[in-house]
Amino acid sequence: METREKNAAVVLAAGRGSRMHSQVQKQFLLLNGKPVLCYSLEQFEACPFLDEIVLVTGAEEVDFCRREIVEKYGYKKVTAVVPGGKERYHSVYNGLRSLSGCGYVFIHDGARPFVDQAILARAHEDVRRFSACVVGMPVKDTIKLADEEGWVEETPQRSRLWMVQTPQAFSFPLILRAYEKLMESGRTDVTDDSMVVESMEKVRVRLTEGSYRNIKITTPEDWAIAERFCRQEDGQG
Ligand code: C5P
Repeated sequence: METREKNAAVVLAAGRGSRMHSQVQKQFLLLNGKPVLCYSLEQFEACPFLDEIVLVTGAEEVDFCRREIVEKYGYKKVTAVVPGGKERYHSVYNGLRSLSGCGYVFIHDGARPFVDQAILARAHEDVRRFSACVVGMPVKDTIKLADEEGWVEETPQRSRLWMVQTPQAFSFPLILRAYEKLMESGRTDVTDDSMVVESMEKVRVRLTEGSYRNIKITTPEDWAIAERFCRQEDGQG
């Protein structure tokens, strides 16, 4: 029988998400009766090649998450709920450090409820081949690079532009080493995990096909779209 190393997911649910203008953090808001965070946790829980999930949440919500998310919904693969940090990359680093070791790690925004098994399978295939991959989709709009005063500086060729999503999957030793170098460097302009590998390691990152449904809930407009997706899945929309 083939043996394989364990694979883990780090699911991020810390941060305040002020752009939703809501008292409750977006990852805990009820979407079709269930907290947003539960949608992605269910996918990781059901995924045959994922063995362990670390949930990263705000320092004050660790107990709430253990009780009201992990225990209430019965997620068996969640081995730790750990406090996040000020910025997303601090939260990721805390999650990575709480893993004792694994083959590959899938880092995912808990604010992206519509990740599915097909996306996870494509990311798994690519991370095994290339050691680092990020899920994304080609952009639909033309993107401008602006200068600091709001003038167009450049119009990059659209056919080469992708918007990236999560999960982003890496060999565990590679991403841990990259994050350790990042922390030592004092760099703060980090918005995703792939950037950390791109700048700290000499490993090329593969772009893996995600889905236009794999949205991140950031603003009230995204919430309306997410509700619509749920209604469609229920056959009501
Ligand atoms: O704020 P933003 O939408 O970019 O957050 C993306 C993801 O990162 C969310 O799932 C959020 O919970 C997480 N995050 C975090 N720690 C932070 C900031 C954001 O875990 N300090």
